[in-house]
Amino acid sequence: MPKPPDARLSGGAPARAWRPSRVLLTRAALGWDHGRRIAERAAALGLIVRELPSDRLTLDLADNPRRAYAEAKATLAVVVAPPSKRRLQPIAPSADWRVDLAEGCPAHCSYCYLAGSLKGPPVTRAYANLPEILAEIPRQLGQGTVTTRQPARAGEGTTYEASCYTDPLAIEHLTGSLSALVAWFGGWKADAQLRFTTKFDAVEPLLGLSHGGRTRMRASINPAAFARHEGGTSPVAARLRALRRMAEAGYPIGLTVAPIIVAAGWEDAYAGLLRDVAIALEGLAPDLTVELITHRYTASSKEVLTGWYPGSDLDMSGNGRAEKRTKFGSVKQVYDASTLSAARRFFEREIADTLPAARLLYFT
Ligand code: SF4
Repeated sequence: MPKPPDARLSGGAPARAWRPSRVLLTRAALGWDHGRRIAERAAALGLIVRELPSDRLTLDLADNPRRAYAEAKATLAVVVAPPSKRRLQPIAPSADWRVDLAEGCPAHCSYCYLAGSLKGPPVTRAYANLPEILAEIPRQLGQGTVTTRQPARAGEGTTYEASCYTDPLAIEHLTGSLSALVAWFGGWKADAQLRFTTKFDAVEPLLGLSHGGRTRMRASINPAAFARHEGGTSPVAARLRALRRMAEAGYPIGLTVAPIIVAAGWEDAYAGLLRDVAIALEGLAPDLTVELITHRYTASSKEVLTGWYPGSDLDMSGNGRAEKRTKFGSVKQVYDASTLSAARRFFEREIADTLPAARLLYFT
């Protein structure tokens, strides 16, 4: 008898749920039910919960940069998102709009894009004022251009991305925010879709929700050779098992192959990864999309990441790179044109062969 799909995917022990060494609550966060519930969840898990006397987030980090990094990464702060953070921003090509439940992530990926977008110590900040965040979402219904620019997304309606500034599943056991958002979209009878992508596997809280098919989970994946740069995340095989469970629970699903790293052996590694996906989803006919995001960095993200992960051998030397200026004026180091077109051709061919039912949304 053939083995079930997950038995053929090795290396899949689930990651241990994150246990921050302290949970700090600002005074304003305590004024929200959701903030108090996060504190209760943390206390029930035996974590140290400290109520701050004001809305100032006092971190008291060590002077030593290595220790300061470790202390910040081990801190969950529960704060109130100000209006500037609640206002939805366009976020093509992933979605029409960005909706943030938190900022920061407890994992330690040595290419993390947050290093270039978030300033200050890498604390994870969870937002307590969920009702105010939800209230912003309908304002943008019917607005946005991603769906019209990507024909493969016809029928998705207005799309909202919840993974821009955090990995929402990494902290879900502490916040419950993602479950609340999924349920909210499930009950919102609008032509809209929530999306999130994750390098974690703890989907249990989401499986029984009334999601209405209006949330797409994508597993953010890399082959083992490159997933070694993803410290503190769930093993890729466990992420794929979680994706299967979500498909079985009726969610539309997807893959975010990110960041694609074009280094020695990349073609074999990614071909193997796509085969693993096919095995993981065997016997299902899911609504499956694929997003392809190549590795890139800026001068400032490189400086931050090199400070955080001095031992990383991730190539940020500039070899084989070209400069790309963003509309905000910053300069990204992306792969050069010939590397990008080779990667694009490779993935288009391999996805058509290995996952023929998948819809490729974009390559960037
Ligand atoms: Fe950054 Fe995502 Fe890794 Fe978290 S899981 S550290 S957000 S790349």
